[in-house]
Amino acid sequence: MTYQSGAGSVLGRLGVKDLVNGHHWRTILGGSIMPPEVVDAMAESAGRFLDLGELNVKAGEYIARITGADRGMVTSGCAAAQVLQAAACMTGTDESKIGSLPDTTGMKNEIVIQQSQRNHYDSSYQHAGATLVEIGAEGGATRAELEAAIGDNTAAVAYVWVMRYWGLSLEEVIEVAHARGVPVVLDAAAELPPVGNLTKFVSMGVDLVAFSGGKGVRGPQSTGMLVGRGDLMDAAWENAFSFNKARAGIGRPMKVCKEEIVGLICALELFVDADHETEWTQWRSKSAHIVDHVKHVPGLEARVHEGIVYEGPGSPTALVILDEDWEGRSVEEVQAAMLVDEPPIYVGVGPEPRELWVAPVALQEGEEDLVARRLLAALTGQ
Ligand SMILES: *Cc1c(COP(=O)(O)O)cnc(C)c1O
Repeated sequence: MTYQSGAGSVLGRLGVKDLVNGHHWRTILGGSIMPPEVVDAMAESAGRFLDLGELNVKAGEYIARITGADRGMVTSGCAAAQVLQAAACMTGTDESKIGSLPDTTGMKNEIVIQQSQRNHYDSSYQHAGATLVEIGAEGGATRAELEAAIGDNTAAVAYVWVMRYWGLSLEEVIEVAHARGVPVVLDAAAELPPVGNLTKFVSMGVDLVAFSGGKGVRGPQSTGMLVGRGDLMDAAWENAFSFNKARAGIGRPMKVCKEEIVGLICALELFVDADHETEWTQWRSKSAHIVDHVKHVPGLEARVHEGIVYEGPGSPTALVILDEDWEGRSVEEVQAAMLVDEPPIYVGVGPEPRELWVAPVALQEGEEDLVARRLLAALTGQ
């Protein structure tokens, strides 16, 4: 592993240096590393002309098979899939409506969402022109609040599947929305793995599910996928794939190129066949290696945690909790100290005060040892 890109490479000429990502499949740090098979598949498709529509239809058929949905398609990230969720629920396949977005005059344009699930990415729904109607408070919402919020203008109910969010369960939201004939759209961006989530939400009855392709699936970072009910998928497709129409739809600036479509399908094939248990065990042992290195430091507790720490799959994570009477560096200072030397190492802090964590999911071979040594030095102020 070399952390300096030579002058002979583009990165070297640009002067962009490598970093170590102990912060999970985080987009701003490059997401995940694509397996070599994915890179090869992308290179293979790069040297030829293909009909992009045919390619994404066939890719969508594969995605539909592995998710159990009526239809699927490759999108430009989960966030673009969310734009298409909103657009599909507002326009259907009406060409004049599709041509008018984000102006929603004459359309149902409200998307109901629990306040406890509001997040950075729900602006994707607004990009399509939808208005978010918030229900409940920080601790969640009630069934009665959801029922009262659904009206003549409701295009969809949005749900965000992140383990640390609370509120009405997905089952209950589906039940209430479907009783009123309103579709449920789900943001499940970072919920793969576990591999079972490929089919879980579709089988629960969610109408449109959005996933990231460039996080745990390890496809191209800018890919995602949208799957769901046939009529709504037709509507999403018309909003995205408008190459031959007079007006480009709202999804046109979020195009996906042939290399990315092929890369995502290859990544999904590998993901479906992967030995997820072995991978989980490797994450556990990388976490344990880091924990073992720092746990003897007086005044802190270090352990391997499996569950909710960050927005990820609840996979094994090295967690360090400083005692209340800890007199050394704060977790934020430790985090900053890890960035000073070459290569900079990114770790997470929170959600509780005095908590710091290293997620092993995006660490490359052998990096756990470098992280362990640098974390010890940062904690002890060296
Ligand atoms: C990462 C993420 C997104 C955006 O996914 P992209 O594939 O990067 O577009 C949306 N919602 C949540 C909860 C996420 O974690």
